[in-house]
Amino acid sequence: MPELPEVETIKRTLSRNITGQKIKACEIRLAKLVRPEPEIFSDLVKDKKILGLKRRGKFLLFHLSQDLFLLFHFRLTGQLIYTQNGPEPPYTHLRFDLENGKLFYADLRQFGTIEALRKDELLHHPSLLKLGREPFDLTAEEFYSLLKGRRRKLKALLLDQSVIAGLGNIYVDETLFRAGLHPAREASSLSFKEASNLHQIICEVLQEAIATGGSSVRNYVDGEGKNGRFQEQHLVYGKRGKPCPRCGTLISYTTIASRGTHFCPVCQR
Ligand SMILES: [Zn+2]
Repeated sequence: MPELPEVETIKRTLSRNITGQKIKACEIRLAKLVRPEPEIFSDLVKDKKILGLKRRGKFLLFHLSQDLFLLFHFRLTGQLIYTQNGPEPPYTHLRFDLENGKLFYADLRQFGTIEALRKDELLHHPSLLKLGREPFDLTAEEFYSLLKGRRRKLKALLLDQSVIAGLGNIYVDETLFRAGLHPAREASSLSFKEASNLHQIICEVLQEAIATGGSSVRNYVDGEGKNGRFQEQHLVYGKRGKPCPRCGTLISYTTIASRGTHFCPVCQR
Protein backbone atom coordinates (compact mmCIF):
# COMPACT_ATOMS: atom_id res chain seq x y z
CA MET A 1 0.00 0.00 0.00
CA PRO A 2 1.37 3.45 -0.79
CA GLU A 3 2.35 4.99 2.57
CA LEU A 4 3.20 8.61 3.40
CA PRO A 5 6.42 8.82 1.27
CA GLU A 6 4.78 7.19 -1.75
CA VAL A 7 1.65 9.38 -1.64
CA GLU A 8 3.85 12.46 -1.12
CA THR A 9 5.91 11.42 -4.18
CA ILE A 10 2.78 10.88 -6.28
CA LYS A 11 1.63 14.35 -5.19
CA ARG A 12 4.92 16.02 -6.12
CA THR A 13 5.33 14.26 -9.47
CA LEU A 14 1.73 14.97 -10.46
CA SER A 15 1.72 18.57 -9.20
CA ARG A 16 4.37 19.68 -11.67
CA ASN A 17 2.44 18.09 -14.55
CA ILE A 18 -1.25 18.70 -13.95
CA THR A 19 -1.61 21.87 -11.85
CA GLY A 20 -3.48 24.47 -13.87
CA GLN A 21 -4.93 21.97 -16.36
CA LYS A 22 -8.65 21.59 -16.93
CA ILE A 23 -10.44 18.23 -16.80
CA LYS A 24 -12.14 17.99 -20.19
CA ALA A 25 -13.81 14.63 -19.61
CA CYS A 26 -13.64 11.54 -17.44
CA GLU A 27 -14.29 7.91 -18.35
CA ILE A 28 -15.21 5.58 -15.48
CA ARG A 29 -15.12 1.82 -16.11
CA LEU A 30 -15.51 0.55 -12.54
CA ALA A 31 -18.57 1.97 -10.81
CA LYS A 32 -17.56 1.06 -7.23
CA LEU A 33 -14.35 3.10 -7.55
CA VAL A 34 -16.09 6.49 -7.40
CA ARG A 35 -18.50 8.39 -5.16
CA PRO A 36 -21.02 9.71 -5.96
CA GLU A 37 -22.16 7.36 -8.72
CA PRO A 38 -20.30 7.53 -12.08
CA GLU A 39 -22.73 9.76 -13.99
CA ILE A 40 -22.86 12.41 -11.27
CA PHE A 41 -19.11 12.12 -10.63
CA SER A 42 -18.32 12.76 -14.32
CA ASP A 43 -20.67 15.73 -14.45
CA LEU A 44 -19.13 17.22 -11.30
CA VAL A 45 -15.51 17.09 -12.51
CA LYS A 46 -16.13 18.07 -16.12
CA ASP A 47 -14.59 21.46 -17.03
CA LYS A 48 -13.10 21.95 -13.56
CA LYS A 49 -9.56 23.24 -13.32
CA ILE A 50 -6.96 21.51 -11.10
CA LEU A 51 -5.82 24.26 -8.74
CA GLY A 52 -3.52 22.27 -6.45
CA LEU A 53 -2.69 18.98 -4.76
CA LYS A 54 -2.34 18.13 -1.06
CA ARG A 55 -1.52 15.05 0.98
CA ARG A 56 -2.97 14.10 4.36
CA GLY A 57 -1.78 10.77 5.83
CA LYS A 58 -2.10 8.28 2.99
CA PHE A 59 -4.81 10.33 1.26
CA LEU A 60 -4.23 12.50 -1.81
CA LEU A 61 -6.46 15.49 -2.40
CA PHE A 62 -7.05 17.50 -5.59
CA HIS A 63 -8.42 21.01 -5.14
CA LEU A 64 -10.55 21.82 -8.20
CA SER A 65 -12.18 25.07 -9.25
CA GLN A 66 -15.58 26.00 -7.74
CA ASP A 67 -14.40 24.46 -4.43
CA LEU A 68 -14.77 20.88 -5.52
CA PHE A 69 -12.31 18.30 -4.16
CA LEU A 70 -11.22 14.83 -5.25
CA LEU A 71 -10.10 12.57 -2.44
CA PHE A 72 -8.00 9.55 -3.51
CA HIS A 73 -7.24 6.57 -1.31
CA PHE A 74 -4.98 4.06 -3.05
CA ARG A 75 -5.35 1.15 -0.58
CA LEU A 76 -3.28 -1.86 -1.70
CA THR A 77 -2.49 -1.33 -5.37
CA GLY A 78 -3.93 2.00 -6.60
CA GLN A 79 -1.82 3.97 -9.09
CA LEU A 80 -2.33 7.46 -10.48
CA ILE A 81 -0.24 8.07 -13.58
CA TYR A 82 -0.06 11.10 -15.86
CA THR A 83 1.20 10.93 -19.42
CA GLN A 84 1.13 13.37 -22.31
CA ASN A 85 0.86 10.71 -24.98
CA GLY A 86 2.09 7.44 -23.45
CA PRO A 87 0.10 4.18 -23.40
CA GLU A 88 -2.66 3.38 -20.92
CA PRO A 89 -1.37 1.35 -17.94
CA PRO A 90 -2.83 -2.14 -17.29
CA TYR A 91 -5.85 -2.33 -14.94
CA THR A 92 -6.95 1.23 -15.68
CA HIS A 93 -10.44 1.84 -14.27
CA LEU A 94 -10.71 5.58 -14.79
CA ARG A 95 -9.24 8.08 -17.25
CA PHE A 96 -9.27 11.86 -16.91
CA ASP A 97 -8.76 13.68 -20.20
CA LEU A 98 -6.82 16.85 -19.39
CA GLU A 99 -5.95 19.70 -21.72
CA ASN A 100 -2.41 18.47 -22.41
CA GLY A 101 -2.48 14.80 -21.48
CA LYS A 102 -4.24 11.95 -19.72
CA LEU A 103 -4.39 10.95 -16.07
CA PHE A 104 -5.03 7.25 -15.45
CA TYR A 105 -6.21 5.59 -12.24
CA ALA A 106 -5.16 1.93 -12.32
CA ASP A 107 -5.76 -0.61 -9.57
CA LEU A 108 -5.01 -4.34 -9.78
CA ARG A 109 -6.86 -5.31 -6.59
CA GLN A 110 -9.64 -2.70 -6.93
CA PHE A 111 -9.78 -1.60 -3.28
CA GLY A 112 -9.02 2.09 -3.94
CA THR A 113 -11.59 4.89 -3.90
CA ILE A 114 -12.01 8.34 -5.47
CA GLU A 115 -14.57 10.69 -3.95
CA ALA A 116 -15.78 13.99 -5.38
CA LEU A 117 -16.61 16.27 -2.44
CA ARG A 118 -17.93 19.76 -1.84
CA LYS A 119 -15.99 21.79 0.71
CA ASP A 120 -18.41 21.12 3.58
CA GLU A 121 -18.38 17.38 2.77
CA LEU A 122 -14.59 17.44 2.83
CA LEU A 123 -14.49 19.24 6.18
CA HIS A 124 -16.86 16.67 7.69
CA HIS A 125 -15.38 13.58 6.03
CA PRO A 126 -15.32 10.84 8.71
CA SER A 127 -12.03 9.25 7.55
CA LEU A 128 -10.24 12.60 7.54
CA LEU A 129 -11.73 13.73 10.85
CA LYS A 130 -10.40 10.71 12.70
CA LEU A 131 -6.87 10.95 11.27
CA GLY A 132 -4.08 11.52 13.76
CA ARG A 133 -1.34 14.15 13.41
CA GLU A 134 1.28 14.17 10.65
CA PRO A 135 4.62 12.84 11.99
CA PHE A 136 6.54 15.95 10.83
CA ASP A 137 4.17 18.28 12.70
CA LEU A 138 4.72 16.65 16.09
CA THR A 139 7.27 17.74 18.67
CA ALA A 140 9.17 15.06 20.62
CA GLU A 141 7.03 15.86 23.69
CA GLU A 142 3.79 15.45 21.74
CA PHE A 143 5.00 12.17 20.27
CA TYR A 144 5.92 10.92 23.75
CA SER A 145 2.44 11.82 25.01
CA LEU A 146 0.89 9.68 22.24
CA LEU A 147 2.74 6.64 23.63
CA LYS A 148 2.33 7.40 27.32
CA GLY A 149 -0.30 5.32 29.08
CA ARG A 150 -0.91 3.14 26.01
CA ARG A 151 -0.64 -0.56 26.70
CA ARG A 152 -0.74 -1.49 23.01
CA LYS A 153 2.24 -2.88 21.17
CA LEU A 154 4.42 -0.32 19.39
CA LYS A 155 3.73 -1.87 15.99
CA ALA A 156 -0.05 -1.68 16.46
CA LEU A 157 0.06 1.87 17.79
CA LEU A 158 2.24 3.22 14.98
CA LEU A 159 0.04 1.59 12.32
CA ASP A 160 -3.08 3.18 13.83
CA GLN A 161 -3.96 6.10 11.52
CA SER A 162 -5.97 7.78 14.27
CA VAL A 163 -2.82 8.06 16.42
CA ILE A 164 -0.28 9.10 13.78
CA ALA A 165 -1.12 9.46 10.08
CA GLY A 166 0.82 8.03 7.15
CA LEU A 167 2.85 5.09 8.48
CA GLY A 168 2.19 1.57 7.18
CA ASN A 169 3.85 -1.80 7.40
CA ILE A 170 7.08 -0.93 5.56
CA TYR A 171 7.98 2.24 7.47
CA VAL A 172 6.94 0.92 10.89
CA ASP A 173 9.21 -2.14 10.48
CA GLU A 174 12.10 -0.02 9.15
CA THR A 175 11.88 2.67 11.84
CA LEU A 176 11.55 0.23 14.75
CA PHE A 177 14.65 -1.64 13.55
CA ARG A 178 16.64 1.58 13.20
CA ALA A 179 15.49 2.66 16.67
CA GLY A 180 16.42 -0.74 18.17
CA LEU A 181 12.90 -1.23 19.53
CA HIS A 182 11.01 -4.54 19.52
CA PRO A 183 7.70 -4.26 17.62
CA ALA A 184 5.83 -6.13 20.39
CA ARG A 185 7.09 -3.78 23.11
CA GLU A 186 4.36 -2.00 25.05
CA ALA A 187 4.18 1.64 23.91
CA SER A 188 3.95 3.01 27.45
CA SER A 189 7.23 1.34 28.44
CA LEU A 190 9.34 3.77 26.38
CA SER A 191 11.33 6.43 28.20
CA PHE A 192 11.18 10.00 26.91
CA LYS A 193 14.64 9.51 25.43
CA GLU A 194 13.59 6.35 23.56
CA ALA A 195 10.38 7.99 22.32
CA SER A 196 12.14 11.12 21.17
CA ASN A 197 14.78 9.04 19.36
CA LEU A 198 12.04 6.96 17.69
CA HIS A 199 10.23 10.11 16.54
CA GLN A 200 13.44 11.52 15.09
CA ILE A 201 14.10 8.26 13.23
CA ILE A 202 10.54 8.15 11.87
CA CYS A 203 11.01 11.66 10.43
CA GLU A 204 14.45 10.84 9.01
CA VAL A 205 13.31 7.59 7.36
CA LEU A 206 10.23 9.26 5.85
CA GLN A 207 12.31 12.19 4.54
CA GLU A 208 14.88 9.85 3.05
CA ALA A 209 12.14 7.76 1.45
CA ILE A 210 10.54 10.88 -0.06
CA ALA A 211 13.95 12.01 -1.35
CA THR A 212 14.41 8.67 -3.15
CA GLY A 213 10.89 8.57 -4.59
CA GLY A 214 9.35 6.04 -2.15
CA SER A 215 9.53 2.24 -1.96
CA SER A 216 8.55 0.26 -5.05
CA VAL A 217 7.29 -2.94 -3.48
CA ARG A 218 4.17 -4.55 -4.95
CA ASN A 219 3.36 -2.31 -7.89
CA TYR A 220 4.01 1.21 -6.60
CA VAL A 221 5.07 3.82 -9.18
CA ASP A 222 5.03 7.62 -8.94
CA GLY A 223 2.76 10.04 -10.81
CA GLU A 224 4.94 9.73 -13.91
CA GLY A 225 4.98 5.92 -13.82
CA LYS A 226 8.53 5.67 -12.43
CA ASN A 227 9.76 3.34 -9.68
CA GLY A 228 11.04 4.61 -6.33
CA ARG A 229 14.44 3.56 -4.95
CA PHE A 230 13.98 3.45 -1.17
CA GLN A 231 13.38 -0.34 -1.27
CA GLU A 232 17.14 -0.61 -1.91
CA GLN A 233 17.68 0.87 1.55
CA HIS A 234 15.28 -1.40 3.41
CA LEU A 235 17.13 -3.11 6.26
CA VAL A 236 14.48 -5.55 7.56
CA TYR A 237 11.26 -5.20 5.56
CA GLY A 238 11.01 -8.19 3.18
CA LYS A 239 14.31 -9.58 4.55
CA ARG A 240 12.90 -12.58 6.42
CA GLY A 241 15.63 -15.20 6.96
CA LYS A 242 18.42 -12.90 5.75
CA PRO A 243 21.22 -11.79 8.09
CA CYS A 244 20.65 -8.62 10.14
CA PRO A 245 22.89 -5.86 8.68
CA ARG A 246 24.05 -4.97 12.24
CA CYS A 247 24.63 -8.30 14.04
CA GLY A 248 24.22 -11.07 11.45
CA THR A 249 21.35 -12.84 13.28
CA LEU A 250 18.65 -13.99 10.86
CA ILE A 251 15.75 -11.55 10.53
CA SER A 252 12.59 -12.91 12.20
CA TYR A 253 9.11 -12.76 10.76
CA THR A 254 5.99 -12.95 12.88
CA THR A 255 2.46 -11.57 13.01
CA ILE A 256 1.87 -8.57 15.27
CA ALA A 257 -1.33 -6.51 15.12
CA SER A 258 -2.44 -8.94 12.38
CA ARG A 259 0.36 -7.73 10.12
CA GLY A 260 3.48 -9.53 8.94
CA THR A 261 6.34 -8.06 10.94
CA HIS A 262 10.09 -8.18 10.27
CA PHE A 263 12.60 -7.58 13.07
CA CYS A 264 15.97 -8.60 14.48
CA PRO A 265 15.47 -10.59 17.71
CA VAL A 266 18.89 -9.46 19.00
CA CYS A 267 19.09 -5.76 18.01
CA GLN A 268 15.48 -4.86 18.89
CA ARG A 269 14.60 -4.78 22.59
ZN1 LIG B 1 20.58 -7.58 14.62
